[in-house]
Amino acid sequence: MGKTNLEVALAKCFYCGGDGEIYLNTKLTPLHAAHVKDMHGKVCSMTPCNACKDKMQDYVLLIEIDNSLSEPDWHQHNLPDPYRTGRLLWMKEEAFKCTITGPCLEFGLKHRFTFINVGIIKENK
Ligand SMILES: [Zn+2]
Repeated sequence: MGKTNLEVALAKCFYCGGDGEIYLNTKLTPLHAAHVKDMHGKVCSMTPCNACKDKMQDYVLLIEIDNSLSEPDWHQHNLPDPYRTGRLLWMKEEAFKCTITGPCLEFGLKHRFTFINVGIIKENK
C-alpha cells in the first residue's frame, strides 16, 4: 500500500488532559501530513473537550500550577504552559464569585478557568 500523505491526530484537551479535538490534513502533502502526525497526543488549542465544555456551563476550572517550577514567560504564550501539579478543581460559578477577587475573577468568568498557585488549596491529610 502506497503512502497517502494523510494523517489523523487526536489532540489532548488543554483543561483536563483527556481526548480533545481530531485533526486531519486537508492538504495531502508530506509536509502537512508530518505536521498533523506531530500533533497527535498533544495540546494544540484551547478548545475544551465536550466533557469540559459541559462543566464550564456552571463551573469554573481551577488548574493548580507551581509558579516556581514554571518558565518565567509561560503566561505570554498562545497556549500558556505553566508547570501543572496535576490537580484540577471545578468550582461552582456562584462560589467562584464569592471566593475569587480582582483580575482572576474577571478572567475566570470570561474563560471558564483560571490558574491557581500551589499552596492556595490544601488537602486535609
Ligand atoms: Zn477536557
